Amino acid sequence: MEEIVDLAIVGGGSTATSFLAQLIETLDKSGIHGSRRIVVFEPLPDVGPGEPYAEDLPTNLLNIPAGKMSAYAGDRGHFLKWVESQGDAILQKYGVNHLDAGTFLPRPMFGEYLKEVWQDLCANAKILGVNVQQVAVRVDGIALSPENSCVHLETRKGVYGASRVVLCNGNLPSASYTDLQGCKGYFNSPYPVTKLAALVEREASVGIIGTSLSAIDAIVALVESGHAGPLLSVSRSGRLPSVRSAVAPSTPIVPPTAEEIASLVQSEDRGLTLEALFSLLSERLTASGDALDWTDVLGYGSDPQTALEREIDASSTLPRNWQSIAISLNDSIEHAWRLMPDSEKRSFYAKWRSLWMTRRATFPLTNALKIKQYLNEDRLQIQAGSNDLAIQPAGDGFEITFSGANGSRHRRHVDYIVNATGMSTNVAASNDPLVQSLLKREIASANPYGGFNLDFDTGCLLYTDGSVIRNISVLGSLAVGTYFWTMSLDVNARLALDQAKRIANELTTCAPPHAGSEPLPNATNLCASNIA
Ligand SMILES: Cc1cc2nc3c(=O)[nH]c(=O)nc-3n(C[C@H](O)[C@H](O)[C@H](O)COP(=O)(O)OP(=O)(O)OC[C@H]3O[C@@H](n4cnc5c(N)ncnc54)[C@H](O)[C@@H]3O)c2cc1C
Repeated sequence: MEEIVDLAIVGGGSTATSFLAQLIETLDKSGIHGSRRIVVFEPLPDVGPGEPYAEDLPTNLLNIPAGKMSAYAGDRGHFLKWVESQGDAILQKYGVNHLDAGTFLPRPMFGEYLKEVWQDLCANAKILGVNVQQVAVRVDGIALSPENSCVHLETRKGVYGASRVVLCNGNLPSASYTDLQGCKGYFNSPYPVTKLAALVEREASVGIIGTSLSAIDAIVALVESGHAGPLLSVSRSGRLPSVRSAVAPSTPIVPPTAEEIASLVQSEDRGLTLEALFSLLSERLTASGDALDWTDVLGYGSDPQTALEREIDASSTLPRNWQSIAISLNDSIEHAWRLMPDSEKRSFYAKWRSLWMTRRATFPLTNALKIKQYLNEDRLQIQAGSNDLAIQPAGDGFEITFSGANGSRHRRHVDYIVNATGMSTNVAASNDPLVQSLLKREIASANPYGGFNLDFDTGCLLYTDGSVIRNISVLGSLAVGTYFWTMSLDVNARLALDQAKRIANELTTCAPPHAGSEPLPNATNLCASNIA
């Protein structure tokens, strides 16, 4: 007979850690203690960092300032307080010589914080009688019992049973350039950049596909590690992300609320239009005392070097309130997305999404100054590659071909290729065994805007007929099609808190499935039926 745990979390990255920390906090506040068993499936040695905050070079910077990165939605300063509590040693370890709420700290430092959040939550859970354990294995498949009372989690160590499951399995590996995988000199991701910098020969030429945040991580890590060969970063638009202003707005920006967004819907037919949302944001900009400067909002032309220089000038001298207003949308963005009819969502994807990604996903001035220096020293070239960017293995390396701004065809030979196009949320195109199992067994279906189709109110998976699977919910990247901006920790922590409250309620109102059973077993003993 299979033993069933109360709650299983698939994936133990930052979203899972944030969810669990807030679940334990909610259980504690509710004052209801009692034996419960929670299992986190995470194949990496530690729960907490996931890939983005893993141990790596300190050149990988957070793209959100220290004062706003936190595992707790209700305590945005939690990480900063943790850093301050560590004294100078941690700053020295990561080469940080200045700390305040606006500092962009190394991501591995945030990973250390998450590891401690995990340890603390396990200790706090124990006091409440809740046993939280990591099982260091991937979940390769999920099946439901006939009456849906139990979820079966299939792993190479055996099948585990859970009454309730939260999927926090993060981004999927990039699905582009699959034909290059396995080729010598091809990296499907820049991470860990320590490995990239160690494996790429110092004088070699490197083609970095992408000009977004991951491309910046790859470039800075290579150069700071002593790379001396030429670097070419190429993407369709050749646009770097916007540089985050170092000047604070003179008055605090008031984030739009869900109610304000709902009031923008004029008729059910049209739902929320991009135009109505844009008007609200423009009003916010005017109210903040700033004027709408289209060039600053949309970016400074097509020459990447000039555009970056102008970005740096603007971010060194101006508050650029439009950035803070775009960021403040994080507090309610899923409501805007939900209220948009499909036609509006499609139009956003076709016309605006790519621009939104480069202008909304900002990067810190520190790294912008480094990129500027590399461009000035001719170590780095940034190119727009139009829509016909192609890469072929050629000789000992690769040939990159693309059309330039004037339509002329360019051909470049490089020794290495780094795919920095970012992670994927396209479940339909993924080879991930768990994702495939969910789709094949029709427990989940693909959302056209990424991730799985979910019930907006609960985050639970939807059957193809639209009915809700009440015991499996999703948090993080694979919830993107439902909540839109799930690539930021503050949004994930807020959505995680919602689920934590709901699931704490479920855990305290339902009788534990193992009530009356023996003391908690080791997680590996929870497995009932072993699969070959
Ligand atoms: C390079 C990079 C930098 C970023 N920087 C920032 C930043 O500075 N600030 C910010 O707010 N956001 C940032 N983000 C956004 C980021 O997606 C989220 O902040 C966050 O890391 C997502 O966490 P997650 O736990 O959902 O996913 P992940 O961190 O990807 O964790 C998922 C975990 O699930 C595990 N897993 C996957 N599949 C399975 C399975 N089948 N069974 C068991 N375990 C599984 C993985 O091993 C992994 O540990 C960044 C993203 C990337 C990719």
